[in-house]
Amino acid sequence: AKQQGRNSFSLYTPGLQAYYQRALQLENALRRALELGQLSLHYQPQHDLHSGALVGAEALLRWQHPEFGPVSPAEFIPLAENSGLIVPIGDWVLSEAVRQLAEWRASGWDLSVAVNLSGVQFMDLGLVERIRQLLQQHGVPASALELELTETITMQDPALAVTVMDSLHGLGLSVALDDFGTGYSSMSYLKRFKLDKLKIDQSFVREMHPGSDDAAIVQATIGLAQSLGMQTLAEGVETEQQRDFLRDCGCQLAQGYLLSRPLPAEAFARYLQGCGQP
Ligand code: C2E
Ligand code: CA
Ligand code: CA
Ligand code: CA
Repeated sequence: AKQQGRNSFSLYTPGLQAYYQRALQLENALRRALELGQLSLHYQPQHDLHSGALVGAEALLRWQHPEFGPVSPAEFIPLAENSGLIVPIGDWVLSEAVRQLAEWRASGWDLSVAVNLSGVQFMDLGLVERIRQLLQQHGVPASALELELTETITMQDPALAVTVMDSLHGLGLSVALDDFGTGYSSMSYLKRFKLDKLKIDQSFVREMHPGSDDAAIVQATIGLAQSLGMQTLAEGVETEQQRDFLRDCGCQLAQGYLLSRPLPAEAFARYLQGCGQP
């Protein structure tokens, strides 16, 4: 036992210890974040690359903690997933996004909102019914709600994933595959899941100079999506060159700092007004 203790000692370097300590503190704080009203959604505009029109927004979770300050979802979502907190938090995200969407649509804006789903949420058979009720309660058509899934979700239990996906489609929801190209999905999965949209990961967009490997990957992705009847949305578009290249390649939609950063709901409403609708 002593021998083992000495070996495992190397695991607890000061850096690692600080990391676990922060993770533990964040997880405890996250337990109360919902009831304390520390969570909110920001909305990042999504535009049609050809007409320039605003077509929708991605809802992105924000956590403002009095001590820790703003905590990135890249840091707290994994903690929420490992602790099971993602279930109540994810339910809140869905209902808040649909409530907000209903408000905007009631003022005449014809837009859709995309919500990120974690694997735990997706593999819950009650999800479809909860979404159905939510849409009904707020009078939002299913076609105005999009769900963003990552490739890892669909890999865990492909058979169940197909069942859930079919019932989501049955409702009339749109489903997008997030971070495309960074996971392990095979072509046969793409076919089986009948996705509506591929989101080209920002890591490819970032290094996408004409003639580069990343440009070739982006072009091939757009071609693949086209032949399978899926739309393409490029993430992380930051420059005019990237936008023009993507448009010339036939990519339909874009999202990124060039168009707008994610905005709090009130700022997004002002942004909508600037877009000239309704
Ligand atoms: P994601 O779904 O891939 O979201 C895109 C991320 O890229 C967002 O980071 C967004 O703010 C950022 N981004 C947008 N445009 C640009 C750009 O032009 N340049 C750069 N460098 N970044 C850009 P964010 O908001 O920090 O979210 C990080 C991740 O956290 C998301 O990645 C998503 O995986 C997760 N996440 C956020 N909200 C939720 C949620 O409600 N539920 C779940 N399950 N995950 C969420
Ligand atoms: Ca996303
Ligand atoms: Ca993404
Ligand atoms: Ca991502």
